[in-house]
Amino acid sequence: MNKTIYSFLLLCIFSCTNQRNNKILVNKVYAAMETEPVEYSGDSADDPCIWAHPNDPSLSLIIGTDKGKNSAGLRVYDLNGTEIFTTSNGKMNNVDIRYGFELGGDLIDIVTAGERTSNTLAVFKVDSENRSLVNIAAREISLGIPVYGSCMYKNVYTGDTYAIVNDKEGNVEQYLLKDNGQGLVDASLVRTLKLSSQLEGCVADDILGYLYIGEEDKGIWKFGANPNDSDIGILVDEVGENLTADVEGLTIYYSGDSTGYLIASSQGDNTYAIYKRSGENSYIGQFEIVDGNTIDGTSETDGIDVCNMNLGTNFSQGIFVVQDGINDVGNQNFKAVQWENIASSFNPPLDIYPSWDLRSN
Ligand code: CA
Ligand code: CA
Ligand code: CA
Ligand code: CA
Ligand code: CA
Repeated sequence: MNKTIYSFLLLCIFSCTNQRNNKILVNKVYAAMETEPVEYSGDSADDPCIWAHPNDPSLSLIIGTDKGKNSAGLRVYDLNGTEIFTTSNGKMNNVDIRYGFELGGDLIDIVTAGERTSNTLAVFKVDSENRSLVNIAAREISLGIPVYGSCMYKNVYTGDTYAIVNDKEGNVEQYLLKDNGQGLVDASLVRTLKLSSQLEGCVADDILGYLYIGEEDKGIWKFGANPNDSDIGILVDEVGENLTADVEGLTIYYSGDSTGYLIASSQGDNTYAIYKRSGENSYIGQFEIVDGNTIDGTSETDGIDVCNMNLGTNFSQGIFVVQDGINDVGNQNFKAVQWENIASSFNPPLDIYPSWDLRSN
């Protein structure tokens, strides 16, 4: 080979590898808000979910988990990051929410979390008046596997709502949630899935009917989300170029019935990977939350959540919330980024659709 060409090729290989290693292509964004630290030290905070208030966006909430001690629970924050309510029912690992669950003739907003102290499914409703959580579990809902990750799925066509839990051995259980006739919610096992290794992050696409599950050392799997769907998944993306183990939290940004994004916490390189929600979930790009003037950046992120809706002043264009593994001052906490900052960091920019009503699905 001609020496000049050879040197050129070497240079190309080096610079491409170098680019990847240094993550030159990772967009940088800043947090606009951080919550108060969680109560317990160490790796305690895990997963957030966002509740959009039905009438006044500025009264929306962030619900986060604390898994620090057996007396830990859920932490409820306002949009300034102030903790305004807590539960103390056990080590809460992952939390998720769905709007418009039918209970006793009312439509409630239902929250479920995997509780690792007694290995049960915690079930709450949002009390929008008091901006708090009310336990509505019909009984101690014991799980068949040692719960680790959890998420929810609502089939928007039937209204059937499910809690999905998984464990460190690759097992998945799907429970149908139902009104027990006395104003409380019970759950019955309707499906199991089996993967090869430790699972945790998961998210369902309520409209397209998919369940995405993160196998931490392997990648992101996609299944049909309904109990009768196939138990064979498709590997959407594998740990490697875009994902650095562990694959952690997963969330979906809706910008319409079939458009939007699937977002994953790529914990091993402290970034977030974005894929198309539609079709074969093609990869779009990567971003990280870096140190700002007053709020530190995020790293070792576990859970994430995103909401397209207008949440008032600071978050009128939507919000992206993540757990931060290393808070600069105090225990772990949750950080929030204005969605438009993430959207505009990409070229072409990502969709921004705050008027699309997630609550009405
Ligand atoms: Ca962690
Ligand atoms: Ca994990
Ligand atoms: Ca940090
Ligand atoms: Ca986690
Ligand atoms: Ca901080």
